[in-house]
This record gives sequence, C-alpha cells and structure tokens, in this order.
Amino acid sequence: MNIAFIAHDRKKDEMVNFVIAYENVFTGHDLYSTGTTGTRIMEQTDLQIHRFMSGPLGGDQQIGAMVAKNEMDLIIFLRDPLMAQPHEPDISALLRLCDVQGIPLATNVATAEILVLALDRGDLGWRELVDKYKPGVEL
Ligand code: PGA
Repeated sequence: MNIAFIAHDRKKDEMVNFVIAYENVFTGHDLYSTGTTGTRIMEQTDLQIHRFMSGPLGGDQQIGAMVAKNEMDLIIFLRDPLMAQPHEPDISALLRLCDVQGIPLATNVATAEILVLALDRGDLGWRELVDKYKPGVEL
C-alpha cells in the first residue's frame, strides 16, 4: 500500500509518536510524506520514507498528484485546526481529491488509529482492486 504522512508543525510530535507506536504495521508498505514530516519520522524510526517537498512549498500538491491518479491508498494528515496555514488552498485541494477518489484519510490521531488497525487487519485490501491511473482515461 502507498501511505502518506503529513503533519503541521504543532502536530509533528504527535505524528512521530503515532508512527513509532505503529512502526511494525507501516513496515513493508511504501511510505511517502511532506519534507519535514518525513525527516522527523525517519530520525525517530527505522522506516524509509519518500519525502516530497515541504508542505508550504508544494508537498501537499505532490501528494495530491498521486491521489488524483488514485495511487495513494491511505493518508494520515494531522492538520492544525487552530492555526491558519499559508498553503490553505493546497490543503483544501488535497482533501477534495481524497473525496473525489474515495481515499481513506485521517485528519486526527483518533481516526488515524482506527485506520491503521484496519490496515493491519487487512480491511483496506479493496484498495488493491481499484483501478489506478490509466493514461487517457478521464473521470
Ligand atoms: P512539512 O509540511 O512536513 O514539510 O512541514 C507539512 C505542512 O506544513 O503542510
């Protein structure tokens, strides 16, 4: 499964602790993140993560490009609901694309935990069956 992690600055400690707690579940999957979030996770775990650009510099849009092609299977996006972000339009676009494609998306750690337990149990196996991007095919 392709799994993405994004955490706003005041949520990064929570993200790192969450990934440490479920490192055994994430091992073996293909992991992606925005720049700083991925660096923080890799500093504290043995996981290898493909890091896109930092969120404010376009990382959300890079992950969004994978979502648009239905290539992302699970996103954990710990947003800061109490602070305005300069890249709010990019964030909204990513959330919208997740709903376009029906991608499992957690925006807080309570939901993230449920999704990761579901992942561990194999409940997201249906994602192996969906049509990924086919060039020339439009929705
Ligand atoms: P970052 O980006 O992981 O590079 O900090 C996340 C964000 O703030 O959108």
